[in-house]
Amino acid sequence: MEILIKQALLDGVRQDIKIEGNRITQVAPTILPSPDAEEIDASSMAAIPGFHNCHTHSAMTIFRGYGDDLRLMDWLENWIWPVEAQMTEEDVYWGSKLACLEMIKSGTTAFLDMYSFPTATARAVEEMGVRAVLAHTLFDRGDAERARLDRERAYSLYEIFRSYSDRIQFSLGPHAIYTVSGEQLQFCHRFAEERDILIHLHLSETEGEVQECIRQHGTTPVRYLHRLGVLSPRLVLAHSIWLDEEEMDLLAAHDCQVAHNPASNMKLASGYRFGYDEMRKRGISVGLGTDGCSSSNNLDMVTAMKLATFLGKAWRSDATAVRAADIFHSATEEGARIMRTDAGAIAPGCKADLCLVRLDLPEMTPCHNFISNLVYSANGSAVDTTIIDGKILMRGRKVPGEEAILARAAEVAYKLMDKKAIH
Ligand SMILES: [Zn+2]
Repeated sequence: MEILIKQALLDGVRQDIKIEGNRITQVAPTILPSPDAEEIDASSMAAIPGFHNCHTHSAMTIFRGYGDDLRLMDWLENWIWPVEAQMTEEDVYWGSKLACLEMIKSGTTAFLDMYSFPTATARAVEEMGVRAVLAHTLFDRGDAERARLDRERAYSLYEIFRSYSDRIQFSLGPHAIYTVSGEQLQFCHRFAEERDILIHLHLSETEGEVQECIRQHGTTPVRYLHRLGVLSPRLVLAHSIWLDEEEMDLLAAHDCQVAHNPASNMKLASGYRFGYDEMRKRGISVGLGTDGCSSSNNLDMVTAMKLATFLGKAWRSDATAVRAADIFHSATEEGARIMRTDAGAIAPGCKADLCLVRLDLPEMTPCHNFISNLVYSANGSAVDTTIIDGKILMRGRKVPGEEAILARAAEVAYKLMDKKAIH
């Protein structure tokens, strides 16, 4: 299968982009079509690499709008965790299908996920055609038997995941330092090192977490991980708001990676002084995430980019901080590096994971600076076409079968929350 994208705006100039199989093979001002190529006229569009959502819980789409405006622990303990305890594999599957649909429609081509029933999410990812790194969540809260089962399950899931397509990678997701023990984190570290897979961990999300860590372990979260010997390039840390300078130095020294989640951090009032420029100055890879839909409340990476820039400028009282071009880089190329997708750029040899964004929209007019318009003015619905692994998953904003997914996912959500449909 060959796709030829004609005259897309790319880095300020009009280019043709040729895709053969699942790779981009040529980018040039004019490429002659081969007879069986599928041609896309992109003369009113710009081409961008697909967004990489570096931290989410995709199945939580079915929690959208359920339990808002609550304190973090009240929200988790009284709203989220009781419902999650009732969730079946089928619920996770439909929540993930809805998430994949929303991501395709807003230009996200890959996501880093942590949730229960990762095989259900894998089934949704396979069917929907997106790319994902799915974590086996370890979450025992001091229950030794559950911790043992979590470790056992890591081995069996690793084997199951080997049968999936190469759009899916397996990873470990120890939930947080207050829900898994130090020994469990060391197990994850060894397991991941032996297999060269990623570890996805919530860290230093709230001030309370840091205080609790100091009380229990006598030191702050990053220093605690360092003492355990688990800081490594395979570690992707979600949130990481409450870090001091020395902790950032430690993350840089061990090539750890961080996922910034501005929407969730603001909505849950977890904190807002995320050291984006400070981390990047140290050479730390910083990706962008939405977090789950219960705390973001969507999976729109364009909105996440805007929030990250505005928030970063606001708390520093510095309009030059967290620039649009930098956050776009985090949301695409940097995310691809973190997730090891071999995508993240539109260049020969890269995986064909890209989007076409409409330029003929009010919010994109005039176009003095495309990246500025995209980050500061648009939202994910400016994406017209989404291509992943060389396949067109959305064209003209239509994804085949989307109505059925919306209907079924809503039905599953209402049933789970024991609510009547709200129209
Ligand atoms: Zn999260």
